Amino acid sequence: KLYNLVQDLKGNIRVYCRVRPFNPGQETGLSSVEQIEEGTITMRLPSKYGKEGRKPFMFNKVFGPSATQEEVFSDMRPLVRSVLDGYNVCIFAYGQTGSGKTFTMTGPKELTEESLGVNYRALEDLFLLSDQRKDTTSYEISVQMLEIYNEQNGINVPEASLVPVSSTDDVIQLMDLGQTNRAVSSTAMNDRSSRSHSCVTVHVQGRDLTSGAILRGSMHLVDLAGSERVDKSEVTGDRLKEAQHINKSLSALGDVISSLSQKTSHVPYRNSKLTQLLQDSLGGSAKTLMFVHISPEAETLGESISTLKFAERVG
Ligand code: ADP
Ligand code: MG
Repeated sequence: KLYNLVQDLKGNIRVYCRVRPFNPGQETGLSSVEQIEEGTITMRLPSKYGKEGRKPFMFNKVFGPSATQEEVFSDMRPLVRSVLDGYNVCIFAYGQTGSGKTFTMTGPKELTEESLGVNYRALEDLFLLSDQRKDTTSYEISVQMLEIYNEQNGINVPEASLVPVSSTDDVIQLMDLGQTNRAVSSTAMNDRSSRSHSCVTVHVQGRDLTSGAILRGSMHLVDLAGSERVDKSEVTGDRLKEAQHINKSLSALGDVISSLSQKTSHVPYRNSKLTQLLQDSLGGSAKTLMFVHISPEAETLGESISTLKFAERVG
């Protein structure tokens, strides 16, 4: 309860940033990141961008290249746990392709216990906490996996769109199944996964064993499509259509979150499939974490700056 109070005082929208390490073999490359402190990341800019070529961006929290999956998750734990108290939570991973979104949410290709991402850790933590509360509350936890591609959604696990889960193994199995059922060949999948939003939704229902009262909470864990700008002169046909859909839904998401953080009276949920789908979980008492990711390489400075500007706008 104290956790929730602290969260409430901080507001319902939080923005985090994570910088991944250089890829193996590239460690000697030039970095666009000058400095990382608790909540500030300072970028190294060519002088045309600003004073002395340094520009700071502020966040609720910044994780540097050496941050572990465990450190990242432990910071998010109170937010995740509030789902069992009936809150609706959305966690978004935003950034250009290759910046580490999937690493944060799921983990690397070869999963180890240490490298498990937020999705697994969040569910594991909900199981743990619900077990601790089992003398007073009986919880049912179920998971749904969804992919939004070109503003259409598809459910990755057919027939059972909502699957009850009670252990981390259940979750791992379900997520594997969700991957397998993606409607594209595995060779095309990596490429496509960066062009669709993939969403794991956790539904929680708790019944108070004394009063019988029911409370419901939900959590959306969203690995967003890559935010990189596609050069319109270079792509045509399907690729251009995809780029336009991604552009539209990411900017619609930015508009919704920034209007929530500015508490404007009209929130433009209806401008994209993504924001329509999440309407009930964005705003009101719902809690949102926008987790932006940047690559450290100097060559991707332009994309990193546009990611940081997106974050600045929603925060
Ligand atoms: P995205 O999903 O944004 O396209 P990925 O999560 O696939 O990016 O990350 C790109 C590559 O960098 C992958 O090989 C991934 O394992 C690696 N990587 C990303 N973040 C980290 C990190 N924090 N620590 C170590 N490796 C990382
Ligand atoms: Mg990815």
